[in-house]
Amino acid sequence: MKASVFSLAGAVATLLASFVAAQEGASVPTTSTAATSSYSCDPNTCKAPTCMCASQSPPGGLSPKDVPQMVVVTFDDSIQDSLYQTAKKMLSTTNPNGCPAHGTWYVSMEYTDFSLVQQWYASGNEIADHTYSHVGSPSAKEISSCKSMLNTYGGIPKGKIQGFRAPFLNYTKETLSNIAEQSFLYDSSASGVTDDAYWPYTLDNGMANDCWTGICASGQVKLPGVWEVPMYAVLDNKSIPQLMDVYLAGEPQDVTQWSLDAFNKKYEGNRQPFGIYVHPTHLTTYPGLPDPKPMLDGVLSFLQTIAAKPDVWFVTNQQLLQWMKNPVKASEFGQQDYMKCQQPVIAKEICNGLDDDHNNQIDDNLLNNCNFGTSNFKTCFNCPNGAPSLADPTPASAAQSGSAGYRYPVPDNCDSTWWDPIGNACLCTTTDCQYKEVVVTKPTASNSSVNPLGAKETSTQTISAASPSSLISSNSIILVALAALSVYLL
Ligand SMILES: [Zn+2]
Repeated sequence: MKASVFSLAGAVATLLASFVAAQEGASVPTTSTAATSSYSCDPNTCKAPTCMCASQSPPGGLSPKDVPQMVVVTFDDSIQDSLYQTAKKMLSTTNPNGCPAHGTWYVSMEYTDFSLVQQWYASGNEIADHTYSHVGSPSAKEISSCKSMLNTYGGIPKGKIQGFRAPFLNYTKETLSNIAEQSFLYDSSASGVTDDAYWPYTLDNGMANDCWTGICASGQVKLPGVWEVPMYAVLDNKSIPQLMDVYLAGEPQDVTQWSLDAFNKKYEGNRQPFGIYVHPTHLTTYPGLPDPKPMLDGVLSFLQTIAAKPDVWFVTNQQLLQWMKNPVKASEFGQQDYMKCQQPVIAKEICNGLDDDHNNQIDDNLLNNCNFGTSNFKTCFNCPNGAPSLADPTPASAAQSGSAGYRYPVPDNCDSTWWDPIGNACLCTTTDCQYKEVVVTKPTASNSSVNPLGAKETSTQTISAASPSSLISSNSIILVALAALSVYLL
């Protein structure tokens, strides 16, 4: 009986998430060239690394043949165990320098397990802000509350939370001003289709893409040093731009073909970044719901096909921007510090999102379990003494400072992969802390089609299992979900 109640709650939550996600930019309007004409930018005064004009040509005067073909795979909304597993499958390819593929997760707070936020970051991926409660036209508080929870419970250093994506991609001038005031480095909410598909650029001279909303009009937005990382659309067989969850619009074989056509156009053209933007909930199997496994298999097959081509790199949006600020040839890309994949060597298991003692369990028995009825999560840090809310996202700690069981927050001068929150110690105490490489040999194009996943097993972390039922463990959440669903259906 208990199990069926949980699966009903899970099904409702999933349906809800699917409905929300379907609204989040599955397809976008085609562009109007007239709307883009007000943008002007002088590359003689707007220069890297602090300023970049919107352009369809690669930065730094590089010839397309010397440009690494970057692929950004991004994930939106809450991080839960089953969704995490789906995302890891999508990143189970290897970059040309032997490092694992990396991606970016735009995280909203409800239903998020913060131990997985920390693990995602610790394995070299990016964590970014997607607001506290996933609302359209979010307030400044929605954005800042999300950031403070990612830091307090996920251990993400404040300086590493640099990106933002608006829920439903519904950003405004105010949203962009808010992220600038809160010191974000970039937004990635605006679509780029064909005429307005630019390389990432700074908003010193305003917006240049997604102009159908009126956002490009002069006086709307001018935010020096804040980057816009366009979300690049894929055209379907009717030339309709598809953006997030492209697979919602077709059968797996059709979607694979549209995506491959769009990828090849870039790969054989100006090598502009290619994006795959998903809500992992759509590709994750839930009991009692239609199984999306054929779709997931199609997406995985597509990703493995492009990963097998020379000079194709799966990067986070932060890595993409590092390259934009200081573009190097593809032959030098893998040696850049920000493209390396090294993990700390720590002699004992500490709560840092990594399997320090190599027993195939991350943070063994070190996680706190915080339960508040409607918000349950695991964390390496202190549980709050009450449920987080938008107004008070990080309530006072349940444990007293200095008492047994107290967890010490990540200080600004120690990365959370080196930080022992129980021992109150940064285990990196010298400038040359020991790291281990997590490099694997990249399979060649000919053998990657045979066993692309097998080659990756050695480089990826095994994630300790979190009970799915712990994510939704109270009848009250079922009622909340049903109430919310009925609102949507109205
Ligand atoms: Zn979202």
